[in-house]
Amino acid sequence: MKAFEGQAAVTVGEGKDPVNEPMIRHWCEAMGDTHPAYQGPDAIAPPTMLQAWTMGGLSGHPGRSTAHEALFALLDEAGCTSVVATDCEQEYVRPLRPGDRITFDSVIESVSPRKTTKLGAGYFVTTRTDVRADGEPAGTHRFRILKYAPAGRRESRAQDGRPRPPGSGDRARSPHPRPVINRDNAGFWDGVAGHKLLIQRCTDCATLRFPWLPGCNHCGGDGWDTVEAAGRGTVFSYVVMHHPPFPAFDPPYAVGLVELAEGVRMVAGVVGVPPEEVRVGMSVRLEFRAVEEGLVLPVFNGKHV
Ligand code: ZN
Repeated sequence: MKAFEGQAAVTVGEGKDPVNEPMIRHWCEAMGDTHPAYQGPDAIAPPTMLQAWTMGGLSGHPGRSTAHEALFALLDEAGCTSVVATDCEQEYVRPLRPGDRITFDSVIESVSPRKTTKLGAGYFVTTRTDVRADGEPAGTHRFRILKYAPAGRRESRAQDGRPRPPGSGDRARSPHPRPVINRDNAGFWDGVAGHKLLIQRCTDCATLRFPWLPGCNHCGGDGWDTVEAAGRGTVFSYVVMHHPPFPAFDPPYAVGLVELAEGVRMVAGVVGVPPEEVRVGMSVRLEFRAVEEGLVLPVFNGKHV
């Protein structure tokens, strides 16, 4: 890994925009920085914006070096698959002003010996970026990350039982969110607790309704009784959740809008098949799962229906 020290990470990058007033204003608003030096006709850019002028945005910069990728691949192979940014040091040579054109190059400055940290054992990689404005040195930005093998990670599995990709199961599972139960929907949750899926039925016009509501949308009547769903349904629509991560859930997982044989639709997890195999129109069958202690939820199983 020492051989990577001194190798280019980016050679002659160009700032996507010259230093400009709108980006300065947005930065100051985001940071809550009202310093007068960053406003008015003689404004300079906040020095800590140094990195902002070099960032590639969503489309990135062309010409990212293979040395950087090779170093990361080597660390991945050594089991150091996780990454965390640790610190950043900047030096300012001269102020940046609107209109300055930015160029920069980055070099892999150092790779540390193996270190043991609370997160796990790994290597600190420091990248130094030299920033120039209209060709003159303007500042230096050192960015350090830890590439590490997570300590004490238990193998966890996705809801479909497959092993999870590295890095996706690092955190302890958070409690599952609880349903909000009120007087209008308590009957539904009482049913679920007894492994029954109850649909409300208007006693005036016999229209079924779901989710539970205080009155009938069809006739306005407020009398109701219930019918128990037989448990057959089809996937009317669905999403497969990958991102953003919610602490209680292991992506990827499928959430369906399931049309019950009785005609109403409900949102619930689709289980029993890998999420990428869920399809609109797929037949599913109701089951009840104990998600965790004290929480049973209706889900729909797509396996062998
Ligand atoms: Zn009605």
